[in-house]
Amino acid sequence: MNSIPNVTLNNGVEMPIIGYGVYQVEPQEAERCVLDAISVGYRSIDTAQAYYNEEGVGLAISKCGIPRDQLFITTKVWINNAGKERAAKSIEESLRKLKTDYVDLLLIHQPFNDYYGSYHAMQDALHAGKARAIGVSNFYPDRFIDIARFADVVPAVNQIETHVFQQQKIARKHLARYGTQIESWGPLAEGRNGLFTNPVLTNIGAAHGRTAAQIALRFLMQSGVVIIPKSTRRERMEENLAILDFSLTPEEMSRIEALDGGKSLWFNHEDPETVEWFMEYCKEHK
Ligand code: NAD
Repeated sequence: MNSIPNVTLNNGVEMPIIGYGVYQVEPQEAERCVLDAISVGYRSIDTAQAYYNEEGVGLAISKCGIPRDQLFITTKVWINNAGKERAAKSIEESLRKLKTDYVDLLLIHQPFNDYYGSYHAMQDALHAGKARAIGVSNFYPDRFIDIARFADVVPAVNQIETHVFQQQKIARKHLARYGTQIESWGPLAEGRNGLFTNPVLTNIGAAHGRTAAQIALRFLMQSGVVIIPKSTRRERMEENLAILDFSLTPEEMSRIEALDGGKSLWFNHEDPETVEWFMEYCKEHK
């Protein structure tokens, strides 16, 4: 199997360009899924406090037989744990659940509540060796520039919705100015907008003997985007990783670029209704 290339983050840390995400993986399934993912070749795992499956991920980390320094583990501080003290406590809790002394990447999950306090706790975690890199998620250009300018540590990564239908062309210009790596969540758009049967993707796939999913993932990877596709099925984990032994031509890349709608397929973090929805969700999931 081809090895997964790394990207170099702005603090020199190397991060695999393909990882495995565990959003919506049931807590009782997480250990099996992560063990499967590691056995098919993934080394980077993306979880979050709000996924309620850090314990399963931790069991897999401790049982997989791969040395810890060959794995790349990401978790995220949730809105309810915002603020310096609470975030610091939650980071300790995440490390305990993940059965590790450090995470490779620690992100603020959402740009809400006292995220500056959280970021200060994350900077402390970075300096204490409890995180090798820190960053943000769902920070759109306005909030991203604010934190990149005013925090002591420029975010190493911004994890945002990115797929063939929302290519984040504007956000990427701003991230590049600060040397911040874009990481895609929803690299397959969770199949929305007919991604798996999209004619452009299936036609290009036919030319390479690949599926639409593989073409969508290869497009992002070839554009320098870190991807963390999720599947609970081992054969799909393999399929999503089998994108290293072919490349898309410049003409194929531009046909896929033309699929960009420049808009979210979920919600807009700058929309007041979205913000209210998140606040209600947090109240219900205290
Ligand atoms: P995704 O785009 O990776 O799609 C996953 C879904 O697509 C699967 O549940 C499955 O139904 C389907 N699928 C996967 N591989 C397939 C294949 N080869 N063929 C056909 N169907 C396939 O969506 P996601 O899970 O939302 O995003 C990936 C990861 O990003 C998450 O697991 C999580 O780690 C992260 N994430 C982060 C945020 C955030 O706010 N930071 C939000 C969503 C997701």
